[in-house]
Amino acid sequence: MDSNRKKTRIVKEIKVDAKKCVGCRACEIACSAFHATPKYSSVNTARSRIMVVTDEMRDIFVPIRAGAYTEAECNGRNRYVIEGKEYDECTFCPASCPSRDAFKEPDSGLPLKCDMCESVPPLEKPMCVDACTFGALTYVEREEVVEAEPQKRGEMEIGLKSLIKKYGLKKVKDTIDRVSKE
Ligand code: SF4
Ligand code: SF4
Ligand code: SF4
Repeated sequence: MDSNRKKTRIVKEIKVDAKKCVGCRACEIACSAFHATPKYSSVNTARSRIMVVTDEMRDIFVPIRAGAYTEAECNGRNRYVIEGKEYDECTFCPASCPSRDAFKEPDSGLPLKCDMCESVPPLEKPMCVDACTFGALTYVEREEVVEAEPQKRGEMEIGLKSLIKKYGLKKVKDTIDRVSKE
């Protein structure tokens, strides 16, 4: 194997074309059904990891997937202006945050986060994408070079060299052999 070959990982993305979204909320229904216990046993969009921000008067619908939980309300917020209308600063935020009820499990209050529908066996594409017949959500996989690896290897080599210098090659080798068998 070529040890110089760069390591890669698969990055999964969902591209959102808000112009194609009609606010049908099929994505919310599919997500909540997939995450019900047992799977598909119920539908409760309050449990969905995707929510569609709707402004029906202006025909604006924006699907937002749940991101990470935040313990505290943030200080730096974004203000979105869409076609001249300024929206509330938390409107398009993907966080499960103490400042609002979005992306919280309705019974327990625990935060909900999109997990890309990871399951065994894996789905061909996430449930929300599959449910969106209007083409507003598109699943994309791309390969990304993992940059951190060479640095880690460098650090590991420096560590090993200093151990060899201190204890001698044989002792280090014997220890690695023994630990790897445990
Ligand atoms: S299923 Fe598609 S069109 Fe319907 S609300 Fe969700 S993103 Fe919008
Ligand atoms: S909802 Fe988002 S933008 Fe609003 S305070 Fe919480 S983290 Fe900040
Ligand atoms: S990818 Fe899966 S978990 Fe994430 S929002 Fe879509 S259906 Fe829900």
